[in-house]
Amino acid sequence: MKNKNLHPIIAIDGYSSTGKSSYAKMLAKEFGWIHIDTGAMYRATTLYGIENFCENNIIDSVDLVSHLSDIHIDFKQNTETNSNDIYLNGKNVESRIRDFDISEQVSLVAKIPEVRKYLVKQQRNIGKNGGIVMDGRDIGTVVFPNADLKFFITASVEERAKRRFIDFKKLNKNISLQEVQENLIQRDNIDKNRSVSPLIQAPDAILIDNTNMNKEETYTKIQTIVKEKLGL
Ligand code: C5P
Repeated sequence: MKNKNLHPIIAIDGYSSTGKSSYAKMLAKEFGWIHIDTGAMYRATTLYGIENFCENNIIDSVDLVSHLSDIHIDFKQNTETNSNDIYLNGKNVESRIRDFDISEQVSLVAKIPEVRKYLVKQQRNIGKNGGIVMDGRDIGTVVFPNADLKFFITASVEERAKRRFIDFKKLNKNISLQEVQENLIQRDNIDKNRSVSPLIQAPDAILIDNTNMNKEETYTKIQTIVKEKLGL
């Protein structure tokens, strides 16, 4: 029998709106691990930029970089929703960071090398003892290149836009499907083409294209692989 790996580091990378965070959260819940949504950390940093150094919809990157040490990010378990909510300087911003104005700016903030360095250091620190599922864009390539298990999730942009649009509709946000799709395409382009830690599949990551799979089917596939590879 294989040795059980009860404190693994699992990396789930991939494109926006493929459900990465949901699957990471489901795995963490099922196996008693911690879930860290690193996209939320870039979003919280973007929120800080918008609140403090933004004029005419443009965040001043020089100001943001020189104040990075003022940005304190924590995760705390929300017992009502059962998720790990993100706090920016002591304030719960879990819901605020999902707003469209953040989505419009986040990839520009995430391509700033100093921002990445600041957040990657924290991510490594949070995950160093294992028992963690971390989702993002560069977890398997940069943050934890030696992760025990790596997934890379993708789906067609049309399908991803539809899913994100439904999420916005449920929250009564007034955004069109076209705007959502344009934002995804723009973010994909910036994320794939930035000079530091671009969005790319790690050579040893397991690719899952869930364009034609529902949430349950995708999770079952991930869960089966996790159990098999980690001997659980
Ligand atoms: O996962 P989510 O869509 O919330 O991520 C928002 C943005 O944060 C991404 O479009 C990307 O620009 C950035 N990001 C990143 N590296 C990560 C996680 C997110 O650059 N590890």
